[in-house]
Amino acid sequence: MDSLARTVAAVGLPHPIAVDVAREAIASGRWEDATEIGRERARSLLVPVVNATGVLLHTNLGRAPLPVRGSPPQPIRATNLELDLSTGRRGSRNDRAGALAARACGAQAALVVNNGAAAVLLVLAALASGRDVVVSRGELVEIGGGFRIPDVLASSGARMVEVGTTNRTRRADYEAALAGRDVAAVVKVHQSNFKMAGFVESVGTRDLASLGVPVVVDLGSGLLDANTPWLKGPPPKWLAGEPAAVQTLAEGAALVTFSGDKLLGGPQAGIIAGRAELVAACARHPLARALRPGGLVLDALQSTLLSYLGGSGADIPFWRMATTPLDALAERAKAIGVGSIVSCKSVPGAGSLPGLELDSVGVAIEGDHLATLRGFDPPVIARAYDGMTVADLRSVDPSDDAIVAKALGAASRSAGPA
Ligand SMILES: *Cc1c(COP(=O)(O)O)cnc(C)c1O
Repeated sequence: MDSLARTVAAVGLPHPIAVDVAREAIASGRWEDATEIGRERARSLLVPVVNATGVLLHTNLGRAPLPVRGSPPQPIRATNLELDLSTGRRGSRNDRAGALAARACGAQAALVVNNGAAAVLLVLAALASGRDVVVSRGELVEIGGGFRIPDVLASSGARMVEVGTTNRTRRADYEAALAGRDVAAVVKVHQSNFKMAGFVESVGTRDLASLGVPVVVDLGSGLLDANTPWLKGPPPKWLAGEPAAVQTLAEGAALVTFSGDKLLGGPQAGIIAGRAELVAACARHPLARALRPGGLVLDALQSTLLSYLGGSGADIPFWRMATTPLDALAERAKAIGVGSIVSCKSVPGAGSLPGLELDSVGVAIEGDHLATLRGFDPPVIARAYDGMTVADLRSVDPSDDAIVAKALGAASRSAGPA
């Protein structure tokens, strides 16, 4: 048993897990396969993969890829997470990423929590528990993964007051709902993952802000500023109409909430930004402690926000991928030198900017080789359609092109001569 476990551990598993694997192998009468089972177990851990799907923010692949600092990456050291270096006293973990987020949004204050869903829950619990919250019937949406606005509202302890209809909600609908009620906030939810067209009408933030109650806007997708000052040149045309934190706050929203790992391009996090006293009420609420992010997330978010504030969008992988010109992709495809060069379409992903396709360039080989590519070390995740396997280079970091070349080469060779 012990020697079997030691053999299994040689595939790179810690001893206790190798022991579990050895036990399992013996129990199932497959002790000769123990090393193979161990390899499978090691492969089932979090490992880096190459995203060649063309979905820039792929939820199954962790949404926004994080920038790696230093090469080789620096070891993780202790940080001053909750230490004020100037006084030597206890500080707040929200002081850096939270303050930077506020600065980047043009907000008085901001608070960082675990994800966008947590941000919405905390805001509603802190501002509206036991009180009324007004929301348009056109915005009672499901984001995915069971996150439905009416359910989140209910679990926050707020009472939902629905106004308008699925396709049309007017200012008068909100006014009628406010009359004679104890309304804590009007909540506006960005229809971030679907589109309504035709006979539709909704009320903008500026108009809602004049109703006399705080307006909370759940932006979800997390575009920071519609003017994209972190990019060279004008904002990409495909961002037109996507609401942004800076502009939504300038239009009078009391608070905005959004994800850290959608269009913001940072780690999984949720950001609450806006009026100082409302952000402080969120931070004081007992749920804030349960929803707080870890030091690794705050460190990564700090890097992302510093890139924004420094105007260096090219340091944020999402923006780098989304804005790479077609000829640069074509050159990379040529350099890969395997299969054929094809035009393809990338999508932002993570439910953001629904319907948007970005022209892209891929490398294609004949047949469906997805399973072989997933089995490559490191795994390469591609797409198969029209009888070919396509690696979309827009979602691949250029430093991974060599891996894509090797994996596609190996896959086409293993398929044998056509
Ligand atoms: C994605 C999204 C959320 C949830 O954010 P997560 O970071 O996935 O928890 C909430 N609201 C809207 C409008 C969204 O698009």
